[in-house]
Amino acid sequence: MRFWVGIDDTDSKNGMCTTYVCKMVMERLEENGSKIIGFPRLIRLNPNVPYKTRGNGAVSFLVETQDISELIEITNEAILEFSELDDKDTDPGAVFINAENHELLEVLFNFSKKAIREFVSIDEAFFLIGKYMIPHLKYKTGRGLIGALAAVGAECNDQTIELLAYRKKERFGKKRIIDRDSFFLADLLTYPETFDTVDWGNDTVVSVPNSPDPVLFGIRGTDLESIFKAMKTVKTEEVDRYQVFVTNQATDMHLIHEDEVSEISEGKSYILSGVVVDEPFEIKGGHVFFSINTRFGELMCCAFEPTKQFRSVIRKLKRGDVVTVFGSYKDGAINLEKIRLDSLADIFIEENPICEICGKKMESEGRGKGFRCKKCKTRAEKKVRVKVERYLELGYYEVPPIARRHLSKPLVRMNVEEKHIFR
Ligand code: ATP
Repeated sequence: MRFWVGIDDTDSKNGMCTTYVCKMVMERLEENGSKIIGFPRLIRLNPNVPYKTRGNGAVSFLVETQDISELIEITNEAILEFSELDDKDTDPGAVFINAENHELLEVLFNFSKKAIREFVSIDEAFFLIGKYMIPHLKYKTGRGLIGALAAVGAECNDQTIELLAYRKKERFGKKRIIDRDSFFLADLLTYPETFDTVDWGNDTVVSVPNSPDPVLFGIRGTDLESIFKAMKTVKTEEVDRYQVFVTNQATDMHLIHEDEVSEISEGKSYILSGVVVDEPFEIKGGHVFFSINTRFGELMCCAFEPTKQFRSVIRKLKRGDVVTVFGSYKDGAINLEKIRLDSLADIFIEENPICEICGKKMESEGRGKGFRCKKCKTRAEKKVRVKVERYLELGYYEVPPIARRHLSKPLVRMNVEEKHIFR
């Protein structure tokens, strides 16, 4: 029989990673004669949930097994062995879903859509588990059951791939040894089939985490061959094992289009159009704010300091510009992940007139007395209106890789005109 297995919430800020637990479960199942079908899936859920450890990821995989009780036993053993169960915020959950149960998978699809874009209560997860009598494992509060169910239900019409390389156990928690230049070379050789390996503009390797989890690096992309080429190019401390995951990363699956809703709520992510009403201002720390008028009223938008050079675009916005913003509504502001400049307002300033003979600016003769060219003696009564050059092109702009959220679709993946990529 084939089962979907979903697992979540096994790690803490002090260590571990649910993808690693997934890898260990899969290895042990294969050792016991079960067959893993295809690649496991790494599903990123609503990036704004407060319970997340880092990237709010949950995992699922399809397995063919003769014995569900052995499947549950092996999963339980691995979760008990590898999870950070002592951490007060680690509440693992695992579910086992018959892959032939299409009615339930349909229900879970809707559940996952909600978990990716909104908030789900733990009671909603328990309701489904009770109603469909879903075999499951619950540890402590079992909050991880939310992610476990969602990871099984998610359908990735748009999908990307991530190869995660793991460290030797004795290296967990130690400083990662990598050759920086080799990551830049891997990017040169395989971009755009791989992306977000490095950030050239900010001279940073973004595919190597800083946290104490077992991941050594992760290569993201859309083409397996290129991902393996990048993996072979990078030079690092010894890789213990690796696993390819199919993911919903880099798909914008979390974004809700303004046409789909009647109001904006905290903790959800949107695509919204509006007209700039309050011009950008910067606060201490380098965060840049501006407001737009939308069909939901006036909304604050923010490009935070970590979005680096993206802010140089935002700072140039003027009242009357029409924009479309992409990002999460958090603490009363849209946290920008991308922006599209749809039209720029014409901005005029008043200047002294130009002399028609010599081309130089005339000088004022005093208040209300007009203007005169000193050299040619030409005269003019009034100042002239001059259109200001905006030095800004229409189209899409995105935050650089260093500030990219897992779910945000990089422009290099978007089939749109006029994209301005910070690489
Ligand atoms: P990592 O990415 O390093 O594996 P994490 O950031 O995924 O860690 P978790 O430890 O999995 O964080 O914690 C996230 C918790 O939030 C899980 O218990 C998960 O079930 C729950 N959760 C996920 N999405 C939602 C949602 N939309 N609403 C409510 N709870 C959610």
